[in-house]
Amino acid sequence: MIKQSEVLIRLQAVCNDLRKISKNKELRYNDIEGRKGNIEEKKEALKNAEEELKAFQMKIDGKELDLKGFEDDINKSRIQLNQIKTNKEYSAVQNDIKLKEADKSRLEDDILKMMTELESKRANIKDCKEDVTKAENELNEEKKSIDDDINKMDLEMKEIETKRDGLMETLDKHSRYHFERLIKNKNGIAVAEVLNNACQSCFFTVTPQIINMLMGDNEVVNCHSCGRILYINSEEYVYQK
Ligand SMILES: [Zn+2]
Repeated sequence: MIKQSEVLIRLQAVCNDLRKISKNKELRYNDIEGRKGNIEEKKEALKNAEEELKAFQMKIDGKELDLKGFEDDINKSRIQLNQIKTNKEYSAVQNDIKLKEADKSRLEDDILKMMTELESKRANIKDCKEDVTKAENELNEEKKSIDDDINKMDLEMKEIETKRDGLMETLDKHSRYHFERLIKNKNGIAVAEVLNNACQSCFFTVTPQIINMLMGDNEVVNCHSCGRILYINSEEYVYQK
């Protein structure tokens, strides 16, 4: 039969393994959450780009309406030309038409430039959409791989838990209760090694009597400061004077 202190040390190692796996599981889940957040950001960027495109298109529509107005004005002035009697009036209207045509031409240039910009905005939206789809596909792939990993980790945990329960059964009722309470209340660490005359969990200095007790037998000794169960590697332990 193994010594009680040996069982406690092994139990602590098993609990450490369980904790490590839990932590890894959490990290894998966090990875998914991170990716989801990233996709949401990409969708937001897409939405903004689409709204911007809509506003820009409306701006172009407005300019096209202005252009139509210029054209109508120019046509009206041309009809007016036919009804004019004096040369002076004729050249004034003709001049006015020239000015309006210059304005119209500038507006056409503007619209053309804006159309080019519109195309680049559309291309940008296409890129954004592809970006979202790609990230979503990656997330799905990752989810599958994470599910596989989580399943493996769950199996591993089950095995370790069986081992833990087996070890627990070899403890008497009191030690078992004590160990479980420490695991729960002391951040998952119930058992601490003594090195250089100090508890390695809280670094409280341990008295020579306690070291003697730990070197001696099966007795369970708790740290006077943190309350954890102490152990010593008695074959290698060197007492510091
Ligand atoms: Zn301690």
